[in-house]
Order: sequence, then structure tokens, then C-alpha cells
Amino acid sequence: MKKKLSLTMKIFIALGLGLVMGLILNSMPSGHVKDVLLIDGIFKLCGKVFINAIKMLVVPLVSVSLICGASAIGDVKKLGRVGVKTLVFYMMTTALAISVALLIGKFMNPGIGLDMSNIIKQEPTIGQSKSLVDVIIAMVPTNPIASMANGDMLPIIVFSLLMGISMALVGEKAQPVINIFESLNEIVMKMVMVVMEFAPIGVFALIANTFASVGLSAMANLGKYMIAVILALIIHATCTYMGVLTFVGRLNPIVFFKKFLPVAGVAFSTSSSNATLPVTIEAVENMGVSKNVASFTLPLGATINMDGTAIMQGVACVFISQVYGIDLSLQALLTIIATATLASVGTAGVPGVGMITLSMVLQSVGLPVEGIALIIGIDRVLDMSRTVVNITGDSVCTIVVAKTEGEFDEDMYYDQKVIEEVL
Ligand code: ASP
Repeated sequence: MKKKLSLTMKIFIALGLGLVMGLILNSMPSGHVKDVLLIDGIFKLCGKVFINAIKMLVVPLVSVSLICGASAIGDVKKLGRVGVKTLVFYMMTTALAISVALLIGKFMNPGIGLDMSNIIKQEPTIGQSKSLVDVIIAMVPTNPIASMANGDMLPIIVFSLLMGISMALVGEKAQPVINIFESLNEIVMKMVMVVMEFAPIGVFALIANTFASVGLSAMANLGKYMIAVILALIIHATCTYMGVLTFVGRLNPIVFFKKFLPVAGVAFSTSSSNATLPVTIEAVENMGVSKNVASFTLPLGATINMDGTAIMQGVACVFISQVYGIDLSLQALLTIIATATLASVGTAGVPGVGMITLSMVLQSVGLPVEGIALIIGIDRVLDMSRTVVNITGDSVCTIVVAKTEGEFDEDMYYDQKVIEEVL
């Protein structure tokens, strides 16, 4: 019996085929077939349509998922300190994660040496620098519909957060609207899935076009980009989380990592924080966290806390800026930290969404969204790896918050019973 190929497999195959096709085209002399039919014809069509479809989903995805996420914090008042502590922790670690990513990106320079300016026209939007005060003022929209029409992400985020929180505060009476948004959320997620079904064709076309123009030289840069992302993920997972567990939680981090390994395996193979959620909850409760805390902070984390995704977005921004020869000013870097932290809130915990919200981070500093073309083909592996970091962040935060709230059983944490027995 024939086994159906998974989407991941198809994207990998498309990546390989696109690469081979691109290199063949690169070695061919310019001519009608190559330039008009392929590079500027069918490949451009498929690649552009795919990128447009991704861009199309950003505003609905971010707004609906944020409204749902924020409205789910219905118990902020009741849970009081736990809610606030968790939110502060999530935001701070994400901001730290993206800073690590920007540093590694700047240090490793993954995009230097690769010139894509002949493939995609650069959008000259960068450089109109605004003062920080202006940036903050512009974050609060006078007309949210206009912001949505223009795709201005920061005002959309502010509006969506306010709307979601207000829905939570209204409570019972807002329930019908909450239900509508939850249903809309499902629909938008389905749209993402449908678009991703076409990813193999898009990836093939984009990669073929890229390699047709730059040849093998792109390989080294892509490899460097991947290494930079993975390095930043490892540094964040070890230094930040170990530090937090040791110094804030006063716990032995090795115990955590040992017990967490099976959960990491599930996250790696599913590429989805949401799909991993039941296993994460079970594991964290078995490490001594009370049900009360775990059942609140972990689903919230799987929805709004994406340190790994923020890391990929940070390195991707540096990579794309270097490929296009655009200098990122200090203000641009700070904007990336702010937007990627917020984008992480709007990234749903399912495969591939981080790539879609990346377009919003790129737009916030005027980097060309088309740069995604180069990295989307290799994103699957990175998606698997960053999802592990996403859920590790949720779990570490949960343990620390539970401990500071007296909702933690330390004996259970040090109990040698391995998690696999329970799973
Ligand atoms: N796959 C990630 C997650 O579920 C989200 C993403 O970065 O695409 O956590």
C-alpha cells in the first residue's frame, strides 16, 4: 500500500528539486525559454502567488488569534499575580530571545556575500526614521480599520489586544462574540493550512528562481543562516532557561532538562506547540506544578509565548537585511525586538505560522517581504527546532511562577520517576 507523503516531506522534495532546477538554469545561457518562460514566467507566477497568499493571511491571522488569546486570559483578575507574573515573564524572555538572535545574526553575518538585489526589487521604505515618541504614538490607531487595510501591524496588535482583554473583562455577555472569534480563528487556521498545502509548489518555484540567479553561492549563506538560528536557540535554551531555573527558581536545571526530553521529542516531531500541549501539561504537572497554574499558564504560553519563533525572526531579519544590503539602524533593531515580541503573541502554535508573522516583522522595518523566498524552503527543520524552544519557555516559566506562588511540589520535581512512565 502506498503511504501518502507528509507535507514536510513534500516541501523537502520541492526544495531539492527547486535547487537542482535552479542550478541547471544557472548553468544555461540566457535565452527565451529560460528567461521569459521560466524565470519571469511560470516560476515567478507560482512564487509570487504563494508569497501573496502568505501576506494575505497576516492581518486576519494576527488580529483574530490575538483577540482570542487575550480574551482567554479571562481570569487575569482572579488569578491576579499569577497572570501578571506569567505575562511579564513571557514578554521578557521573548525580548531576550530576539536580542540573542540579533546578536548572533550580527556576529555570524549569514547574509553577507549573497546578493539578491537582481532577483527581487528592493522596496525603498527603510530609512524614514521616526523618533521613539512618534513610533509609540503611531502604535495607537485612530482608525483600526485603516490600519488593517494598510497592514500596519503595531496598531492592529494594540487594537486586538485591547479588544480581547475587554472581551475578557465583560465576561458572560461577551461570550457570543468570543465564540464567533474562536470560530473565526479555526477558519483562519484552516486557511493557513490550505495555503501551506501549496507550499511545495511555491517553494520549488522560489528556490529554482533564486538558485537560477545566484547559483551555488546561496548554499553557503543558507547553511550559515541555519547554523545561526540553531546556535541562538541552543544559547537561549541553555543560558536563559538554565539561568532562570537556577537563580530565580532555585532548582537544579539538569533535572528539568532530563525530564523534559520526551516532551521535546513530541514538539520536534509535530512542529506544533498546540499539538504538544497535552504532553507538556502532563509533564509539567509531574514535575510538581499544581493543576491550577499549569492549566492556565501552559495553554496561554502555547498561544502567546514563542521564544524560538522570535529567534528565527531575529536572525531572518539580519539575514534578509544583509542579502539586500540594507543597514539596520539601532532604531530598526529596537523595532524588530518590539515587533517580534508582539508577533510571538500573534503566532499560533501550529507548524509554519512563524514564517507568516515574519512578514509583519520585516514590514515593520521596511525590509522586503520577498526575502522570505530564500529561507522558507529550509524552514521546516528550523520550525521543528524552534517549537522545542517555544514549549520549553512555557514550561520553565510555569515552574518558576508556580514555585514563587507556593503551587509547586519540590519533592516531586526531584523524584526520579521518569516522565515516560507517565506518558
Ligand atoms: N511551529 C511553531 C509552534 O507551534 C510556531 C512557528 O514558529 O511557526 O510553536
